[in-house]
Amino acid sequence: MASAGVNMPGGDGGDHHHHHGECRRLRRRHRRFTLRRYVPAATASEEPIAGGAAAASSGEKRTRPALSSSSSSSDGSSSDDGEEGCSSAGAAAHRLPVPAAVWPVAFGSVSLAGRMREMEDAISLRPFFFTWIDGSPIHFFAVFDGHGGPHVSALCREQMHVILAEELAAEAAALRQRPSPATAEEDAWRAALSRSFSRVDALAAVACACGRAAVPACRCPLSGQTGAIIGSTAVVALLIRDRLVVSNCGDSRAVLCRAGFPLPLSSDHKPDRPDEKARIEAAGGRVVYLNGPRVRGILAMSRALGDKYLKPEVICEPDITITERTVDDECLILASDGMWDVISNETASDVARQCLEDGSPAGSHAAGSGEAAPSTSTGALAAVRQESEPRCYRAAALLARLALGRDSSDNISVIVIDLKGRS
Ligand SMILES: [Zn+2]
Repeated sequence: MASAGVNMPGGDGGDHHHHHGECRRLRRRHRRFTLRRYVPAATASEEPIAGGAAAASSGEKRTRPALSSSSSSSDGSSSDDGEEGCSSAGAAAHRLPVPAAVWPVAFGSVSLAGRMREMEDAISLRPFFFTWIDGSPIHFFAVFDGHGGPHVSALCREQMHVILAEELAAEAAALRQRPSPATAEEDAWRAALSRSFSRVDALAAVACACGRAAVPACRCPLSGQTGAIIGSTAVVALLIRDRLVVSNCGDSRAVLCRAGFPLPLSSDHKPDRPDEKARIEAAGGRVVYLNGPRVRGILAMSRALGDKYLKPEVICEPDITITERTVDDECLILASDGMWDVISNETASDVARQCLEDGSPAGSHAAGSGEAAPSTSTGALAAVRQESEPRCYRAAALLARLALGRDSSDNISVIVIDLKGRS
């Protein structure tokens, strides 16, 4: 975990242009193409982002308010170079629909200790981890950033999806029992996630660094004494049909890249966030500034799994957002604050998108890349990669390298989930 934990979108200035100058021409070309092909339609205005999603940044002309609908912006200002055609295309409402059943998912990840001696981050990639009642697969991707040791993040890596599958099964069984309103499904996902976070939190006190929760203590080589303050962040993204369900506790973050713009799907739980500070104080706690705002001067985040000695101020209740996917969605980035502390939402979104575009045959680099292209089948399941995908891996690796180059002093974990059907 980072000691400072600053979250300063846009703080890196414009130098990502410098890093990716070579990509810009290609990107422009591709964007023009993309805009013509996928014109934001009026229907895209119903972005069901919950209130937790913070605006990404301010001031930069490239940043739209996170919740603005794509239909309301006549889009001439959205691109760097004011290319013609965007503005009329943005206002038009003739987006080509994607076949309803095909919502592609490909993913890649990198997790590294960086300059830290200890590795306390963990990631969990579980495509097809559950089948929902309508037969749709649910894919699970998560970043866990541990503190005080790797115990709780390892526990999350090994147990969160297992526990969540149990909770989803219970919700599914309940849904089958009774006639349900249309919103019941989303309520079920929320309830299952919330309970899973609670259950993992309850196991944290007996977590071993191997990820098992054991009483009496685990006998594996990794078992050993733990400090009093051990815990972990958790940002969990579930992909089901056309929904992105993001559940967050702590200061890891999920950012959706939509039509070239970063749309945060989680909001960091920092002790100095006004609502979090008020909650902490109402619980009898204090935010003390010791190398940044910290709960009791100790923990640089206001929610976490574990940390029982910091209860009741530090809670494990997640914020959950449910977002409808659109054809303008390019990728979803999950990362620990080791990346977000030194890379803004905008830059991360740009880098990942360019990397994914450059690797596709639509770009000029693909012909000689020698790497296997993903299946071009149009079947719904074929649109989902079960293994790590090379372009996504490269995008994640590039972001991690960039963070290292910017002197991130923390563990760095990045998952890039490609939402375009690239072939
Ligand atoms: Zn163990």
